[in-house]
Amino acid sequence: MKSKIVLLGPPGSGKGTQGEKLSEEMGYVRLSTGDMLREAVRNGTELGMKAKGYMDSGALVPNDLIIDLMKEKISTLEPGTGVIFDGFPRTVEQADALGEQIEIDLALNLDVADCELVERLTKRRSCPECHCVFHLTHNKPRQEGVCDKCGSLLYQRDDDCDETVCNRLEVYRKNTLPLIDYYERKGILVTVEGTGKMDEIFAKVKEAVR
Ligand code: ADP
Ligand code: ZN
Repeated sequence: MKSKIVLLGPPGSGKGTQGEKLSEEMGYVRLSTGDMLREAVRNGTELGMKAKGYMDSGALVPNDLIIDLMKEKISTLEPGTGVIFDGFPRTVEQADALGEQIEIDLALNLDVADCELVERLTKRRSCPECHCVFHLTHNKPRQEGVCDKCGSLLYQRDDDCDETVCNRLEVYRKNTLPLIDYYERKGILVTVEGTGKMDEIFAKVKEAVR
């Protein structure tokens, strides 16, 4: 089984959903920079205050902040722990920094068409507590506005509005897309088609981590 996994793919490609499933079923620790940053914003920490403006506009938070944050997290992991990186790295500089600390053995790229991404993001609803995500038409919660898993009230992320979504996709293309080549050249890239039924996608994801 692969032990150190990077999830690649545009915003809305399902990194969070698939990463969460992998962590639940197979015991990986999932490290999501997005979840960490949103928590920092909610708690009003120094990091949160620095990051909020970037996040709300769909821009990337500066590399040094993110790299420090991840270094700290990685240093707390027990040796041998299986880890999934979700939303990190997002730039070549971040990927280099990660590579210096840990040997990545799989970069799993979820491939989804742009038109589908906009629809997914703008109709996404998220759980602030357990980070589960739902969709107003494709993956409705059993009870409207309530998380199936933990019962918390769902919310729409500030950056899931129409204007910011387009900006995030552009930022992705400019900064993060080059990582597909980056990991391809290292010989550890696997691309999985990220459209279709969630369980079918998960089956392919599991195949890739084996
Ligand atoms: P998504 O993948 O749906 O865009 P995330 O939750 O991963 O959402 O990230 C939300 C926002 O947090 C990003 O738009 C960005 O501002 C910030 N962010 C998250 N991870 C990183 C990172 N590795 N580098 C820079 N900024 C980041
Ligand atoms: Zn929840």
